[in-house]
Amino acid sequence: MIELTGSLHNHTGYSDGELYHADLAAAAAKAGLDFIITTDHNVYVDGVDRWMEFPGGRRVLVLAGEEIHHQDRVPQKNHLLAVGAGTDLSRFAPDPQKLIDAVREAGGAAFLAHPYDPASPLVHEEALGWDTLDVRGFSGLEIWNYMSEFKSLFHNRFEMIFYAFFPSAGILGPDVQTLALWDRYLAEGRRVSAVGGPDAHGHSYSLGPLHKVIFPYEYLFRAVTLHILIEKLTGDPPTDGRSIAEALKTGSGWVAYDLSKSTRGFRYRAEAGDASIGSGGAVPFAPGLTLRAEMPHPAEWRILRAGEGVVANGSGTKASYDPRGPGAYRLEARRRFRGRMRGWIFSNPIYIV
Ligand SMILES: [Zn+2]
Ligand SMILES: [Zn+2]
Repeated sequence: MIELTGSLHNHTGYSDGELYHADLAAAAAKAGLDFIITTDHNVYVDGVDRWMEFPGGRRVLVLAGEEIHHQDRVPQKNHLLAVGAGTDLSRFAPDPQKLIDAVREAGGAAFLAHPYDPASPLVHEEALGWDTLDVRGFSGLEIWNYMSEFKSLFHNRFEMIFYAFFPSAGILGPDVQTLALWDRYLAEGRRVSAVGGPDAHGHSYSLGPLHKVIFPYEYLFRAVTLHILIEKLTGDPPTDGRSIAEALKTGSGWVAYDLSKSTRGFRYRAEAGDASIGSGGAVPFAPGLTLRAEMPHPAEWRILRAGEGVVANGSGTKASYDPRGPGAYRLEARRRFRGRMRGWIFSNPIYIV
């Protein structure tokens, strides 16, 4: 399997972002990413999927997805990320369930974007979370939306400016309500994968003499990222795009905060004798089955069983646990960064059935 690092949930000038696909790909190359998925609001930008090569030989695969919501709805809610559908599906936006079904029928993966999102009156933004959480058939949840978390940090103009200049002082990890929602879905026996993303727009902000781009794409591409494991790359954008969408759908990877320390090399597997499977996979429960993880740097880790909570925890670069029964088991790791323990790795579950 090869490990790819990428970024899902990025806006370009086709909706409310500042820059365009080639600029985002250049920023992604500088940040060391292998792929980016753009998700402009209610527009599928056709014809941009391609491999781009940059100085130093880094290649970045640009893929277009779409972030879809019902624009006439008051209040605004229920943003959905569609990946790999290959067509505009915004006409289905008024009914989130029909929209999810349409993404699935088009062969794509649907993720509920920022399921819980704080209102932010200072930047004139209402709460954009989900109020229709009984939908079914989606592939997963965006458990960590960088911009949602950023909005939750400030309550006055001073704090807003402080965190705009020093965001890493505030960013701690996925929203706890969203993690609880994920565990609730998993405990119902559903297969729900996690993604995370920057929700990058590249907007600038001016206040008197202060002028700052909030936040540059390249900075965000180094922050909340996705790591996936796939069998191979072919160099053919549609084929490789399908492999990436499939990996996101099944959850063969993890959501990472690479700004703290690169998570490259993390592995989480269920092992029984010589056989093993990675996250997103399913394995029958049997005595002798062990969950194991290896982390590229020491961290505090915990393994959670959906519906039960933490079943094992420890610190270091290795984790292991012998499950006592079926369930969805996922791993979280945190590290100290800039003086505080902060979320670092949020693995997709291994399903023991
Ligand atoms: Zn959104
Ligand atoms: Zn967005």
